[in-house]
Amino acid sequence: MQKLQGIAVSPGVAIGEALVMDNEGFRIPRRFVTRDAVDDELERLEAAVEAAGAEIAHNREAVARELGEKYGAIFEAHLQMLQDSRLRSELHEMIRERHYSPEYAVSRTLRRYAQVFQRLESSYLAERVYDIFDIEKRLLRHLLGRRREGLSHLSSPVLILAHNLTPSETANLDRKFVRGFATEMGGPGSHTAIVAEALEIPAVVGIGPFLAEVSGGDTVIIDGDEGVVVLQPDEETLARYRHEVEEKTTLAARLETLRDLPAVTADGVPVELFGNIEFPYEVEHCLDRGATGIGLYRTEFLYLGSATEPTEDVHYQAYSGVVRAMGDKPVIIRTFDLGADKVPHLRPPEDERNPFLGLRSIRLALRNLPMFRTQLRAILRASVLGKVRVMFPLISTLLELRQAKMVLADVMEDLDEKGVPFDRNLQIGMMVEVPAAVMMIDHFVKEVDFLSIGTNDLVQYTLAVDRSNRDVVSLYNSADPAVLKLLTWAIAAAEGAGKPINLCGQMSGNPIYTMLLLGLGLRRMSVTPSAIPEIKRVCRSVSIDQCRAAAERAMGMENARDIKSFLREEVMRNVPELGL
Ligand code: PEP
Ligand code: MG
Repeated sequence: MQKLQGIAVSPGVAIGEALVMDNEGFRIPRRFVTRDAVDDELERLEAAVEAAGAEIAHNREAVARELGEKYGAIFEAHLQMLQDSRLRSELHEMIRERHYSPEYAVSRTLRRYAQVFQRLESSYLAERVYDIFDIEKRLLRHLLGRRREGLSHLSSPVLILAHNLTPSETANLDRKFVRGFATEMGGPGSHTAIVAEALEIPAVVGIGPFLAEVSGGDTVIIDGDEGVVVLQPDEETLARYRHEVEEKTTLAARLETLRDLPAVTADGVPVELFGNIEFPYEVEHCLDRGATGIGLYRTEFLYLGSATEPTEDVHYQAYSGVVRAMGDKPVIIRTFDLGADKVPHLRPPEDERNPFLGLRSIRLALRNLPMFRTQLRAILRASVLGKVRVMFPLISTLLELRQAKMVLADVMEDLDEKGVPFDRNLQIGMMVEVPAAVMMIDHFVKEVDFLSIGTNDLVQYTLAVDRSNRDVVSLYNSADPAVLKLLTWAIAAAEGAGKPINLCGQMSGNPIYTMLLLGLGLRRMSVTPSAIPEIKRVCRSVSIDQCRAAAERAMGMENARDIKSFLREEVMRNVPELGL
């Protein structure tokens, strides 16, 4: 058994069989073979070893010819390792005696070798690990051949263990079979993490290197509450986690009874609790939890899930479905927030040194007007079906906001000319997620109908910490006093101008912050749908006076750690059943 610590990004516990993806998206399977297939499987292994050997010999000769014998010798070492009689007899034994598939036998044996090398003191020998992985990959390539599929064609429940998953890979995971995932890379605010919440599967990211220690088919536990991954758990650990899953189910069932009760504080102050969605199917998740609207529809996932740019009709179908399903409840559609870590298939990543500071979001929209206009047309067409609002992401300057509004006005004019109906009083809002927007908030509030604070980005840009980088995860903190000051200013300015302000970053879905946010004057939160019951529970358990007192104490503190532990205690004192 091995316990690994990573970053918890999507709650819940999943127990199951590992599907391991290596850096190149190789799927490393465990499959037992039947007794009567053993001879065929041994033949398959031999054919793969022979083909891999021929390939390496060819490389050795080509490199020796071009660069000299010395370089060719690198491949000689690979060849010797591949043809080592001990390795061969181990592989044969695994297939013949234990009925492992050749793929699993190769992966398991070579990974065990790699671990031995990794533990050696000599850095020269530790480096040889890459040679071992190279041989593993070569053999797998030959063994899997056309079956080298990535995450497609799953047929049984799995937990995905991968080096990294991009937001679009995550968005395309097969929801029927993927029960959780854990990655070596990734940070707490990455969009991969956000998608995991949308899929409502436990996820842990930023674990660091661990894939060498695990093989496909191993039993694994992913604890998305504590950020822990357990490889090959013992019986006692399995029993403990199974018990935890049962307790969680009981708490969820208890909270379900809140579904039709209003989100109102103990002293009767109403709070608007909206849901965040990335995919239309999540409307169900929102309605099931009693959301009173969609506070953030991240439409960029329409682009991430497809190999071509979505047409106006594809947009319209998605939006009209969501709007109709929500009936008279508001739906805030955010125009596409592509770029940075959300890169669609249709556009190869730009060579950007700092993609989060680069051509992303509204900047990208304003440089790709036809694409932007296509989306706006579809939003406007859907606006007659319900209570649609439009929101622009990552606004940093007034000029940017005005440009976006001008494009919208222009599209409206176009529709008018063509006689296409749309809501003339469509409310227009902006995300407040760049510190510059907070600095200029007094101006912004005059030019929009509503605002929504995006703390995921606001934290990143305020503290200069990449939200998706595991190396700086300890510095990424929503409870930082600098962030809290910006929130205070934004909320006060909106209140002063009589404009509704929402908070739709991950912060609002964390019950630790609910009292603080209410105390700062926030009355609208938009959260990942699964978090709605917990947040509602906190709202209904506390009074605004208590929240104001807690916020005042927190604002007097100097660092995030003190603030966070104080807030945790406050929530625990008032709502112990959450077990924070
Ligand atoms: C945010 O930045 O807080 C936000 C809600 O937007 P996204 O996470 O999509 O960047
Ligand atoms: Mg954002």
